[in-house]
Amino acid sequence: MKKTYIGSCHCGAVRYEADIDLSQGTFKCNCSICTKTRTWLTTVSPDAFRLLAGRAESTEYQFNTQTIHHLFCKHCGVRSFGWGDTPEGGKFYAVHVTCLDDVEIDELVSAPITYIDGRNDNFQSSPVETRHL
Ligand SMILES: [Zn+2]
Repeated sequence: MKKTYIGSCHCGAVRYEADIDLSQGTFKCNCSICTKTRTWLTTVSPDAFRLLAGRAESTEYQFNTQTIHHLFCKHCGVRSFGWGDTPEGGKFYAVHVTCLDDVEIDELVSAPITYIDGRNDNFQSSPVETRHL
């Protein structure tokens, strides 16, 4: 069942609301940026994401194919969400589930995790090793 969560960066300058059903799954990836930032994401459609504060406090980083906009707070550096636009799926928001302020620990613990082998551009498969992600 979808729930509306409040997410934010560490200092609170960036805040959003997102409608998420964590039981529908989350993902972790072994690509270069996800590994370095230990990213744990779920994705939502644009109609399920509302930025409440911090558009001007956010800056973004892009690399490689520049498909994903990796946003982070200019003040505290925390990456609380990002977004992308793919030819296949259209625009989506990627929510960092660890930045949801009102999520229950039990909800996170029981959320299914799909591991993605982004390091090898093998997005349909899991990496051989996932314990470090
Ligand atoms: Zn911040």
